[in-house]
Amino acid sequence: MKIAMIGTGYVGLVTGVCLSDFGHEVVCVDKDPAKIDKLARGEVPIYEPGLDVLMARNVAAGRLSFTRDLQSAVDGADAVFIAVGTPSRRGDGHADLTYVMQAAEDIAHALTGYAVVVTKSTVPVGTNAVVREVIARANPNADFDVASNPEFLREGAAIDDFMRPDRVVVGVTSDRARKIMGEIYRPLFLRDFPILYTDLETAELIKYAANAFLATKITFINEIAQLCERVGADVKQVAKGIGLDGRIGPKFLHAGPGFGGSCFPKDTRALARIGQDHASPLQIVETVIKVNDEVKRRMVDKIMDLCDGSVNGKTIAVLGVTFKPNTDDMREAPSLTIVPALVGNGARVRVVDPQGRREGEALLPGVTWMEDAYQAARDADAVVILTEWNEFRALDLPRLAGVMRKARMADLRNVYAPQAVREAGFEAYTGVGRGA
Ligand code: NAD
Repeated sequence: MKIAMIGTGYVGLVTGVCLSDFGHEVVCVDKDPAKIDKLARGEVPIYEPGLDVLMARNVAAGRLSFTRDLQSAVDGADAVFIAVGTPSRRGDGHADLTYVMQAAEDIAHALTGYAVVVTKSTVPVGTNAVVREVIARANPNADFDVASNPEFLREGAAIDDFMRPDRVVVGVTSDRARKIMGEIYRPLFLRDFPILYTDLETAELIKYAANAFLATKITFINEIAQLCERVGADVKQVAKGIGLDGRIGPKFLHAGPGFGGSCFPKDTRALARIGQDHASPLQIVETVIKVNDEVKRRMVDKIMDLCDGSVNGKTIAVLGVTFKPNTDDMREAPSLTIVPALVGNGARVRVVDPQGRREGEALLPGVTWMEDAYQAARDADAVVILTEWNEFRALDLPRLAGVMRKARMADLRNVYAPQAVREAGFEAYTGVGRGA
């Protein structure tokens, strides 16, 4: 198959690289010249484990290339994927479809023969129908179908998720489109991964419903964590105790500083808006959004409490600022709420993150960037574990305590056992939902 991938961000680039690895001929397009220049030089503009090797292999095999020229990429393609961003629209939480509609227009003018225009971006119910109208209006002679193919990969594990998905969802309205989509994903069926064919609207809603459900699960355990703190229970054991029930399952039951990232916050907001627009409000999702904001703010209180009620004039070492480990993505990371609140309350904040600095420098003004946890913790009044990168999971705790002015730890990912931290010489420890 010949494939054009419009948008080479976290999703478009991974999808393009993986589809080329299946043996398809893929041309990746982006309107950002800096990104395309980097890719053309063989550099990967994002941090995603394993992507560089896979990309180099497929470029060398001649199946993968990069361009700014959408016209040449779309010309002769069997499928054109739209993988551009759909951020929250300022003010109302709706998904901003400007980039999707612009891409649809550009594709319309570039189509030469029959192609399936596949929406990979997460888009509200009804968007694929609008994409079809936009293309038909812009180019009445265009011969095409639309398909909805939402993506479920996780940043940090994106390649494995794409290559070994729990399922592939494809919304289609014609046999011709279904056949092409089946051909594109055929290498996966050979390994028996399920593909679910639906109509367009169902595929669109599956993506939002999946993300909202996961966000709800996280928020549920975060709320239970707060209760644990009040009643003296341990949320890790509560999570284990409920997660062993096969109907509940153990995943997404890790209490923490609230969900962030490029998807859950914006997708829960967008789904809430979709519900309101269709006179079918999603009260659970609306509550999840509200509770998650409170969870993030509660983390600031936790750190203040740890520091005897005030961080003013104190030095706080923050370990990890990306929204999760193994990515450089800072979008809606809890650090963007917590760190400015600490700075605003007069703390001297030092931060360290293995990949977050490039993005984070502009987003976190007033902090000092450090090379490692021990340097950050030197003479500090508290250390805060905000992202559970591997290098923060196996810290030499006695050494860390030894360099601090006051050895206190806020472990917002519950990485360490409270007892072990105290035994290592820390005078105070607070986790999330870990007893009195
Ligand atoms: P991103 O911001 O990293 O990438 C989007 C890219 O599209 C950018 O490089 C931008 O320059 C490019 N672009 C925008 N308009 C264009 C146009 N007209 N022509 C060419 N290029 C254009 O976004 P992302 O994180 O990859 O997300 C893309 C979509 O996938 C979103 O809808 C998102 O919700 C969804 N999604 C993301 C993830 C994730 O983990 N990031 C997972 C599943 C689904």
